Amino acid sequence: RDIYGIDKWGKDLIVPLDNGEIGLKNPLAPNAPAISLPSIVSDLEERGIHVPMLVRISSYLENEIHRINSSFRTAIKNTGYTGEYRGVFPIKVNQQAQVIDRIVEFGEALDYGLEAGSKPELVIALAHKLSRNALIVCNGVKDAEFITLATLSRKLGFNTVIVLESPKEADTVIQVYRELGVEPLLGVRVKLTNQISGKWQESSGDRSTFGMNTDQLVAVLDKLRDAGLLHCLKLQHSHLGSQVPDVNDVRRSVGEACRYFTELKREGVPLTHLDLGGGLGIDYTGEKRASENSINYTVEEYAANIVETVAYAMDEAEIDHPTLVTESGRAVVATSSMLVFNVLESTLYDAPTAPDVAPDDHHLLADLAAILTYLTPDRVQECWNDASFYRNELRALFRRGYIDLRQMARAERIYLHLMARIKSLVASMEDATDVTAQLENAADIYHCNFSLFQSLPDVWAIDQLHPIIPLQMLDETPDRRAILSDITCDSDGKIDKFILADGVSPSLPVHSLPDDKPYYLGVFFVGAYQETLGDLHNLFGDTNVVTLDLSADGSFDLLHEQEGDTISQVLSYVEYDPNDCVAAFRRLVDGAISKGTLKASDRKLIMGAYRDSINGYTYYE
Ligand code: PLP
Repeated sequence: RDIYGIDKWGKDLIVPLDNGEIGLKNPLAPNAPAISLPSIVSDLEERGIHVPMLVRISSYLENEIHRINSSFRTAIKNTGYTGEYRGVFPIKVNQQAQVIDRIVEFGEALDYGLEAGSKPELVIALAHKLSRNALIVCNGVKDAEFITLATLSRKLGFNTVIVLESPKEADTVIQVYRELGVEPLLGVRVKLTNQISGKWQESSGDRSTFGMNTDQLVAVLDKLRDAGLLHCLKLQHSHLGSQVPDVNDVRRSVGEACRYFTELKREGVPLTHLDLGGGLGIDYTGEKRASENSINYTVEEYAANIVETVAYAMDEAEIDHPTLVTESGRAVVATSSMLVFNVLESTLYDAPTAPDVAPDDHHLLADLAAILTYLTPDRVQECWNDASFYRNELRALFRRGYIDLRQMARAERIYLHLMARIKSLVASMEDATDVTAQLENAADIYHCNFSLFQSLPDVWAIDQLHPIIPLQMLDETPDRRAILSDITCDSDGKIDKFILADGVSPSLPVHSLPDDKPYYLGVFFVGAYQETLGDLHNLFGDTNVVTLDLSADGSFDLLHEQEGDTISQVLSYVEYDPNDCVAAFRRLVDGAISKGTLKASDRKLIMGAYRDSINGYTYYE
């Protein structure tokens, strides 16, 4: 049984194999056999690339870019829309060179462009050779330097659109134009009042922080007209939001964007492009419904709704169909990356046996142990209550000094054995919903080799859900339930919400850890936003990153390897010079030798250990 719901969220790309391992299907070669992810990981481990590692699948990136573009092209054809589609990828969603380079490569034939929200991102965009018709859309707050570079880049043939976010920015554009004598290509960012639902609802509606209201918009038009630059205004940008759960919100917001577009045209603005920003969501849970981590539509439906809504509004206003632009980020990159890590050890929350109660033990230990004699299906809740009560009483006695450490340890073990018996009884019962829910508090803790703050920051910060599953043994029934704890020393560094076939659960079904081989877990759809939002908590740095291509014959090609941060690198991020650290440590060692507290013959060993650490991976090796 597919308890993890892989068939719901796996998009036919992530599939269980007959041998119980997770396989990756190549969407560009549907007849190719799926390749086992654990076998990819062990192959990479053999090459010296260790977990935790981020695995990027280039074929998935290519597939998503083609899917979005072909969805718009099909919708345009089916609707009789006379404008075109030009996607741009928002660099902020994943700025890594390996990702952007590939997006540009795969997007070349599709006139796919880039969106830059800052000066560094514009610098990245301008370092790529884009196709003749591709756009570079510049959003965000811009100073004269940003505007100068964007304007001058037109001389190299780039279609760089400066999207005005405020009347003040219009002043700067006019001033730069007067200095350079080069006409800019302009856009205006219009704030939509329709608020979408979902986790990112604040990024839409009246109180969203970007874009202009009607009053500011009119001020900008007047300024541009006065400066003789109104004819440069070609694009209206109206960002729909992010991870929009409900496709009807897309229709509503696009309808509102069209109202602005038709009004601006009536004002004599020669707009040719309507940019609807981001918002195309990912169905993280596979539920196919409008909720925070799921969406009630497909890419094809999203494209069809946009094209139809715009066609209808423009026809009604008797305006030519504009070129449609979207800035999908999450939908392009999320699927292509997965995080793989190993479980280091487990803290089990039950025990197979219970010790005998000693004659001198406090009578509450005997009371606790006696629960085992009346543990039956109809009294399971009563037993749970009694066990919690006696354990709390015993802890209070320990705190006050009435029972010693050994008695307390025996009591804990009796309690854990009771948990084991209750868990196995509940598993065999047909209706134990209430107790099952309480047993979630008795889930094991699996200690895993990753940092939540570095690799999954949205899970920590905004309760983002990603599918998380064991990568092997899926042909065996998981015999334990666990929450996951990372290796930072922070109690927030844990995951206790998991997507399962029948809903979100506070614990993950897992297997008892095998003695003889690693137990890998995979976190899926982590390609959007996570890599650069991640931070250096406890100085755990970037993980190893590999970019792979899935071949048509069911093998893989290692396209690129980016080694994770070494300790020396993360030290330099917090302004330590690693050489100074080595020198300081050496002085301490030599001082200890002079004082006679360290043998001179140990110097090589201790300095070697320090140097090995400083050159090594920040994660558990
Ligand atoms: N464009 C703009 C202006 C944005 O602010 C964002 C993100 O919120 C995006 C595009 C990307 O959105 P998404 O990742 O939902 O596609």
